[in-house]
Amino acid sequence: MDYLPVFLNVKGKRAVVVGGGTLAARKADLLARAGCELTVVAAALNDDLARVVREYRIKHKTTALCGDDLSGCVIAFGASSDPAINQKLHELATAAGILVNISDTTDLCDFIMPAVVDRSPLLVAIASGGATPLLTRMLKARFETSIPAAYGRLAEFAGSYRQKVKDSIPNMTRRRRFWEEMIDGPIAEHLFSGQEEQATALMDGLLDEAARDSDQPPRGEVYLVGTGPGDPDLLTFRALRLMQQADVVLYDRLIGEGILNLVRRDASRIYVGKMKKEHTLPQEEISEMMIRLAKEGKRVLRLKGGDPFVFGRGGEEISSLADNGVTFQVIPGVTAANGCAAYAGIPLTHRDHAQGFVVVTGHEKDGQLNLNWDSLIQPRQTVVIYMGLTSLSTITEGFLSHGADPATPAAVIENGTRQEQRVIAGTLESLPDKSVEADITSPALIIVGSVVTLRDKLSWFARGEQS
Ligand code: SAH
Repeated sequence: MDYLPVFLNVKGKRAVVVGGGTLAARKADLLARAGCELTVVAAALNDDLARVVREYRIKHKTTALCGDDLSGCVIAFGASSDPAINQKLHELATAAGILVNISDTTDLCDFIMPAVVDRSPLLVAIASGGATPLLTRMLKARFETSIPAAYGRLAEFAGSYRQKVKDSIPNMTRRRRFWEEMIDGPIAEHLFSGQEEQATALMDGLLDEAARDSDQPPRGEVYLVGTGPGDPDLLTFRALRLMQQADVVLYDRLIGEGILNLVRRDASRIYVGKMKKEHTLPQEEISEMMIRLAKEGKRVLRLKGGDPFVFGRGGEEISSLADNGVTFQVIPGVTAANGCAAYAGIPLTHRDHAQGFVVVTGHEKDGQLNLNWDSLIQPRQTVVIYMGLTSLSTITEGFLSHGADPATPAAVIENGTRQEQRVIAGTLESLPDKSVEADITSPALIIVGSVVTLRDKLSWFARGEQS
């Protein structure tokens, strides 16, 4: 992060705005609304600023800026049309150790002003470090339309109960659940529709109930969530919702930063990934850990790349949960076959090419592939191979020695659906060398069948691609 986002309490504190135009008016307006004791320094004010100064009874100084203007200030804003005045303000403020912002001059800014969506007491601040003001404005517009005005009322209502809830429900996990239930449920609905009395009655009831069982341990649960092959946009709504509720998250190597960043910030993170040959945590230990955490009352998020039930050991993990009476939910995800095929422009079925597809693992067990080659080598069928990169040449040799045509189209997709996605297309004969040449690494998925040729026309996700 280039900047530290903070919200300043400037109530009753002093600040100075230098400049007499519209830019100065916007700053003065914001500062005044935040309760700041403000002085505007400018020879003359335009109508906009004059209105703000009048409305909030802001002090206006018409003589030139001097060091005294900054005395006792916590922040300073320069919005003068004269760069020399802004420069002077910057020097004076810097010398006095006061944080300063000069409009449109990032080099002279100790801090930047975000675009603000105001649903006080709820505030959303958006900034791009000056890089793309347009994007910032677009996002602000999006938030303006997607955050109902009534959220301010909800935040205020919640704020008025904060201490009471804290006193009635000492356990933090329970307390958080209480708030979630409140914010997601009928109480909020009543507030949104302006029925404050009903909301208060419900809230008091819910609080009494929660206070009565506050010595019971909260009930834990496990969410086994498929996150898809990498692009965070492919998450399901349910996945995202549970990710926001978790107390602790167990994740492995296939889960990228983009997805982890969507997990609730203060959930503890436990890496339980398996590197090939280098088992970080054996399966039983992962299961035991989930059982223990759930029994402590935690909401345990077990993130899985792709879909939990496709080569994801999801079945094994929840079967031990079931044995131990731990409640769980399973959330499907886009499996690598679907994600990679779509983002590589390779339809898995197509009326002119394939009437079905099979999905197999190319992982060798005791040096053996153990694939049923005859069932794989069928006309009008696409074969998708997971975990087959290391044994790619053994796989293609298997196809060929069991009678497949060496010219059968085949492709390997590395990092499918992610920004770094690469696709190498060739034939059963050429693919192993091509993929070594391109230095393809894991995760990679292999697709065999004539559908691969459709990619020439249907490829759309083109970043860093090769053929
Ligand atoms: N449960 C996962 C599969 C886990 S097995 C799913 O449903 O997708 C791990 C294998 O999945 C990898 O070896 C690779 O073959 C494949 N895979 C997962 N993500 C991938 C990606 N983004 N690109 C290419 N292959 C991927």
